Amino acid sequence: FRVPTPVNEPVKSYAPGSPEREELQRTYKELKSQQLDVPMYIGGDKVYTDNKQPMLQPHDHQHILGHFNYGDASHVEQAINAALAAHEAWANMSWEHRASIFLKAAELLAGPWRARLNAATMLGQSKNAYQAEIDSACELVDFLRFNVQYMTEIYQMQPESSPGVWNRMEHRPLEGFVFALTPFNFTAIAGNLPASAAMMGNVVVWKPANTQVYAAHMIMELFREAGLPDGVINLVYVDGPEAGDVIFNHPDFAGIHFTGSTGVFQNIWKTIGTNIHKYKTYPRIVGETGGKDFILAHKSADAKALATAITRGAFEYQGQKCSAASRAYIPSNLWEEVKGYVQEDLKTFKMGAPEDFSNFINAVIDEKSFDKIAKYIDDAKNSNEVEVIAGGNYDKSKGYFIEPTVLLSHNPTYVTLCEEIFGPVISIYVYDENNFEDTLELVNSTSPYALTGAILSQDRYIIEHAMKKLSNAAGNFYINDKPTGAVVGQQPFGGARASGTNDKAGSMLNLLRWVSARSIKETF
Ligand code: NAD
Repeated sequence: FRVPTPVNEPVKSYAPGSPEREELQRTYKELKSQQLDVPMYIGGDKVYTDNKQPMLQPHDHQHILGHFNYGDASHVEQAINAALAAHEAWANMSWEHRASIFLKAAELLAGPWRARLNAATMLGQSKNAYQAEIDSACELVDFLRFNVQYMTEIYQMQPESSPGVWNRMEHRPLEGFVFALTPFNFTAIAGNLPASAAMMGNVVVWKPANTQVYAAHMIMELFREAGLPDGVINLVYVDGPEAGDVIFNHPDFAGIHFTGSTGVFQNIWKTIGTNIHKYKTYPRIVGETGGKDFILAHKSADAKALATAITRGAFEYQGQKCSAASRAYIPSNLWEEVKGYVQEDLKTFKMGAPEDFSNFINAVIDEKSFDKIAKYIDDAKNSNEVEVIAGGNYDKSKGYFIEPTVLLSHNPTYVTLCEEIFGPVISIYVYDENNFEDTLELVNSTSPYALTGAILSQDRYIIEHAMKKLSNAAGNFYINDKPTGAVVGQQPFGGARASGTNDKAGSMLNLLRWVSARSIKETF
């Protein structure tokens, strides 16, 4: 049960003149100039249809990257059949063989595939080189390596025996297929959701977000090159509800591995509940969902560190990380100093396409997101409860660009302090520095979410006290740091309340959801 000890993949800096930067720039240009015709993968076959959908660049929406072949309900049926046909052989393959396929994928990604997947993420999801590197290279490599380690730990979880009796437990895959439904914002999540279920011996139907197809296609090709047998993961591009209609009515539906918005997940759960009598087995429901992540500063906090937590925590990847800070509670004694630092820092954030590596801010994912975020900003501009402290401008003529925007709200329950916006907008509420207790209550109660949260204070007692009072307000808690940037193996990630089932992606807790244990007692 020994596998190579997992280590976090080191993050490359892409410094000017470095070989990795040159390779990434070259690959980016190469992919940008291609016109890909991206197929679905069903049972090892590449599937093309007459319904070709364009793959857009969010930062340059007139320049398409090619097309992907859009399917319908019949392709979902085919994908389920292909998965079920592959089930027996895959479930019976030794764990060492399954592990070695995913370890090989990790090594290919850390090496020859790195620049391609990073470039695909930059082009298709509008991430800058650093954000692509920590996502599609490092985090996905880490998920694969660490999950192989956790898999072996699960298989070693065995009951006690006694003389004359040998008790043992088999951690078998689920009976049926798993549906992996992935969001646009992380390539690592796109790879991890199908891979973690498959690693435990399950077969998978995978549907990524339409705005993530470029990276999803590359991941599928990577897994195939690593030796993944046909039919184990089947990748379809289909309308979400149309896919759901087939999947959630199928008797062999055995589980969903979801990351995305809370509303979509809650509807899926309702559908599964309504159909529960149709399934052979109770499906596993694992979902990581929305957030309204907070920064709470105490009057003892360091103003500079707080300003950095705000600008980095809120605006990396245009605020489209599920963990991004989107509300901050600042004590009155620190506000003027923090505001100055934030405004200065934001002047250094250049905005533009990712091919210019000096652009920190790129575009938001699509027009629908752009319009939604712009509406929140417009409403704030028209409200007498809010002031725009920084940013507030936007332009979608070439790409979906929105300036990093800081709102100061005088109403602690103004809508932008409560709802998930999922864009480069943070709302700040300045509280009376002597009223920390009421502010703790505000943090706890103004949003239904509980994904990430940061507390900044130099007072040990206050940190301890806040952590107790906010014990269910975040699944990932940060002390004197920004609330983003969880590293696999170091800060297992997942939220509580309306933010998810908190099964901690990239941990043994998550992998345990993809096995159905059989206890065996043998008497001699
Ligand atoms: P989304 O909910 O719109 O889409 C997620 C997936 O579900 C996509 O593949 C989409 O096509 C599919 N889908 C949408 N409607 C469907 C339906 N009715 N039936 C079946 N499938 C459907 O989410 P998104 O916009 O891609 O991602 C952003 C959201 O994801 C944010 O809310 C963010 O907070 C959340 N997120 C959470 C985490 C976490 O770890 N908690 C991580 C990343 C993203």
